[in-house]
Amino acid sequence: MDGRNNRRSPPEAAETTEPESVDSGHPVALAERVWWVGGRSGGPEPPTHAYLIEQGDQSVLIDPGSRSSFPDTLRRIEEIIPFSRIRWFVCQHTDPQVTSALPSIAERLQRGDGHLVLHWRSRELAAHYGIGLPVWLVDEHHWRLPLTDRTLHFIFTPYTPFPGAFCSFDDGSGVLFSSQLFSAPLADGPLFARDEGWFDAIRQYHEQQMPGRDILNHALGRLENWPVETIAPQQGAIVPSRLIPYMMQKLKDQECGLHLLARDGVEMRRLSRLNQVLREITSTMIVSRDFREIADRLRTVLARMLPAVALEFYVQLEDDTVLHLARESRYRGVAASPPAWVRRLFGTTREEWGGDDDPAPFRFDREGEQGEPCIVMPLFRRGETWVYGVVLILLSEPVEPTAEIGEMMQQMSTALQVAVEREAIFRSIELERQKFYERSIRDALTGLFTRFYMEDTLRRLFEIHDRGGGTAAALAMIDIDHFKRINDNHGHLRGDEVLRRVARVIKQDARAGDLPVRLGGEEFGIIVVGQPALEIQAIAERLRRKVASIQFPPPLRELRVTVSIGTAVRQVGESIPAFMERADLALYQAKDQGRNQVRSANAAAPAGQWTLLFE
Ligand code: GH3
Ligand code: MG
Ligand code: MG
Repeated sequence: MDGRNNRRSPPEAAETTEPESVDSGHPVALAERVWWVGGRSGGPEPPTHAYLIEQGDQSVLIDPGSRSSFPDTLRRIEEIIPFSRIRWFVCQHTDPQVTSALPSIAERLQRGDGHLVLHWRSRELAAHYGIGLPVWLVDEHHWRLPLTDRTLHFIFTPYTPFPGAFCSFDDGSGVLFSSQLFSAPLADGPLFARDEGWFDAIRQYHEQQMPGRDILNHALGRLENWPVETIAPQQGAIVPSRLIPYMMQKLKDQECGLHLLARDGVEMRRLSRLNQVLREITSTMIVSRDFREIADRLRTVLARMLPAVALEFYVQLEDDTVLHLARESRYRGVAASPPAWVRRLFGTTREEWGGDDDPAPFRFDREGEQGEPCIVMPLFRRGETWVYGVVLILLSEPVEPTAEIGEMMQQMSTALQVAVEREAIFRSIELERQKFYERSIRDALTGLFTRFYMEDTLRRLFEIHDRGGGTAAALAMIDIDHFKRINDNHGHLRGDEVLRRVARVIKQDARAGDLPVRLGGEEFGIIVVGQPALEIQAIAERLRRKVASIQFPPPLRELRVTVSIGTAVRQVGESIPAFMERADLALYQAKDQGRNQVRSANAAAPAGQWTLLFE
C-alpha cells in the first residue's frame, strides 16, 4: 500500500488534533519534514518516541528506540522514506528504551557512511552492542551537526540516570527533541499535550530524575536561547508552541532531586509538598516588603499544610505598648491589650522555650481567646533572649505535632522575625511621629496652637479659599506691650505666668471655629474663619479690652497688661507670608501710635505692591 496516503496531520493541525484521533500506526507530522515515527507498540513498557528528520539521504533518526518497538518504528519510517536514506542515528542518552534498537539498525543498514551521534559518555555503547557503525561525537563537533538546509544544535542536559544526556534543536523546523526533559513515562496518554494541566503529568518525573534545580535551570536556560516551536520529548506528550512558555516557567520553578532525600514514594510526595510550601514561604519573605502581603500569603501557604484559619501577631514595643497585627486591621499594628495568656508570654526567655540550640521554638496551645487550638511561635529581637512578641497560627482543629510542622516553623522563623521586627520598628516610628506631631501643634507653655500648626492650617484653608473664594479668613496679630519690663521687674517666671494668663483670655474669647495661636515669645494670634472674619476688627477690640482688664493675683496685683493688635483679612490668591506681613505691619502701626490699640491693614494693592492705608 502507499503509506503516504495514510500519513497523519499536517503540522498546523497537529496542535488541534485530538490525541485520541491520532492513528499511532502511522507517522505523525510535527513540522515540515519532521515526523513522529516511534514508540507506541503496545508493549508493557511506557512507549518511547522516535523522531525522523526527512533530509534526503542525510535523514536523521532521533532516539531509535527499543528492540521491541523497532519493527513498528521501521514500518512508520518506511511510509515516508526508505530506511536506507537515514544517515544519522542520534542517541541522546544510553537507556535501553532509546538504544536497544541499535543492533537491529546495524544489521539492516547497507550504507557505509551511517553514523551514531553520541556524547562521549556513550562512546562505549557501540562497542558493547557489538555494532560496527562509526561514532560521531557531539562534543567533538562543537555540538552542531550541519545538514543540507538546517543545523541540529545539541544542548547538554545531564540528568541523574545519565550525566551525558543531551537534547537536539532543529533550527529548520523549531522542533526541540528534548529527550528526558518535558518527559513523562506514562503507559498511556495523549500524543499532544492539550492544556496547562499537562505539567502535572511531567512534574513528578522531573522531581525524581533531575539531580537538582541548579542543573535543571542551567539546561533550561540554554534551551531558552532557541526559538522552540514544538517540544518533542522522549516519553509522554508533545508540547505545542502555545504551552511552551508556561511549561518552561513551571519547570524552572520545579523542586527536584528529592529522591536523594526520600526513602520511599509516600515520603517523596510529602517532601515534594513540603518543599513547595517552604519555597513559597521563603520567596514571599524575600520578595515582599509589605507586611500585610507577607502575612496574607503566609496564611494561604500555611493553610495548605495545616487547618490554619488565621494568622496574628502581638508585639511589645520599647515603651511597653502592645501592638496587635491581625487581618481585621489589615495587619496595621493597632495598640491593644492582649489576652492574659499572651501577655504572660512576654519576657519569657529562650531557655524556657527550649534553649539556644532550638533555632525556631514553637508550641501547640489550646488557650486561644475562644479556647481554639493554635500554634504559638515566640519572637526574639536580634541578639536578645526574651520574648517580645508572638505569632499565633489559629487552627480550626488540633493537629499532631509532626516533623513537617517543625520544619515549616523553622523555615518561617528567621525571615518572620526580621519581617515582624521591621514592621514593629516602622509602627513605633509612626506612633512616635504621631506624638511628635501632637507636640508640634501645641505650645507647651500656654496650650495654644503653634505657629507651625497655624501655617499648616492656613495652607489648607487658603486652598479652599482660592478655589471657591467663599471661605474668608482673618488674622489678629497680638503683641504684649512692654513685656520686657514685666520680665525685668518681676522675673521670667512671673513673666511666664502673665503669658499663660493672656493666652487663657485669648482662648476663652475664641469661638469654636477660631484658631488661637502662640506665634512665639509674647506674640499671639487668632485666626478667624468664615463670616466672622469680616468682624476681625471688633473681635480684636473686644480682646484688647479683656486683656487690659485682667486682674492678676498677688504679687502682680498692681500689674496692668495691655496688648497691641494688627489685623488683616486674607485676599484671594494671597500667600501666607504676604498675609501675615500685612497683619504685622498693622501691628507695628498700633505700637507706633501709642500701643494698647487695634489697627487693621487695608487691602493689598495689586501687582504685589503693598500700599498700606491705616485707619
Ligand atoms: P513692645 O511693646 O515694643 O512689644 O515691647 P516688648 O518689651 O514687648 O518688646 P519685645 O517684643 O522686643 O520683647 C519681648 C520680650 O519677651 C523679649 C523676651 O525676653 C521676652 N520673652 C519671649 N518669650 C518669653 C517667654 O516664653 N517667657 C518670658 N518670661 N519672656 C519671654
Ligand atoms: Mg514682641
Ligand atoms: Mg511686646
